[in-house]
Amino acid sequence: MTSILNADLHCHSVVSDGTLTPEELAARARTNGVELWSLTDHDEIGGQHRAAAAAKTQGMRYLTGTEISITFIGKTVHIVGLGFDADDLALKQGLMQTRGGRGQRAMEMSDGLAKVGIHGAYEGALKFVGNPELISRTHFARYLVESGVCKETNEVFRKYLTEGKPGFVEHRWATLKDAVSWITGAGGIAVIAHPARYKFTANEEYALFTEFKNHGGRGVEVVTGSHTAAEYVTYGETAREFGLAASRGSDFHSPDESHTDLGTLPYLSGELTPVWDLLTDRIQ
Ligand code: AMP
Ligand code: MN
Ligand code: MN
Ligand code: MN
Repeated sequence: MTSILNADLHCHSVVSDGTLTPEELAARARTNGVELWSLTDHDEIGGQHRAAAAAKTQGMRYLTGTEISITFIGKTVHIVGLGFDADDLALKQGLMQTRGGRGQRAMEMSDGLAKVGIHGAYEGALKFVGNPELISRTHFARYLVESGVCKETNEVFRKYLTEGKPGFVEHRWATLKDAVSWITGAGGIAVIAHPARYKFTANEEYALFTEFKNHGGRGVEVVTGSHTAAEYVTYGETAREFGLAASRGSDFHSPDESHTDLGTLPYLSGELTPVWDLLTDRIQ
């Protein structure tokens, strides 16, 4: 296929921390001209069959997807999986195990917030949760906006939910090796999500890409809602240096919160190998 394809291979539904259902996302993607779509809920593939069916209804091609949280040299990194078998047992079990710590973490986040005078945050966040196994910082952010503590979710993250702030709780996610193995073991390909977001030093980033490749990782997000135009160029070069395919995705979560809508990013450069070229037999 060609790089000039309106592929959107990264977004979230109510099955994780998005506000739209898989069906609503599919309709929105189609309206925006998406030709190849993937729903990539955090640590969860429970929405995959619905998303694939909705894509079919809308006349879009579909790749299965997920976004796995991992801990790499003490920092949280996200690995996107694409084109796997959504019924694969080892993948499902791995993701279930990854989701497992979220309930306890949420209660500790709530305790941290209570210490600065914000009470009932756990119960408040729960009202925004669509999947009881997937309570995330995003749900806390929505509650703190609703209750008037902050004006918007970005402000909540900045003031309360990032490292060193009262609602932040250190958490150990899956390992890089496990995440890549679960995805590839299920017949899919692993992709480093939004690399510019991690603020790694050059050496740390080199270590991430090198280890990722050694474990069998195949792609990196180049054109994403989390990157600037300059970063599309930087990570396009990184993709070529490491012999990785390039992915494109909005990381859309909600009409009210996301600045990048489904299907509205620039195309991938023709000099890059698109991830969908590695997945022609996995496209539904
Ligand atoms: P969690 O997996 O619970 O740590 O939550 C991570 C999610 O929080 C990400 O997937 C984003 O959706 C959201 N997030 C992280 N940082 C920010 C930010 N600065 N502003 C808005 N949302 C953010
Ligand atoms: Mn998210
Ligand atoms: Mn992410
Ligand atoms: Mn995401």
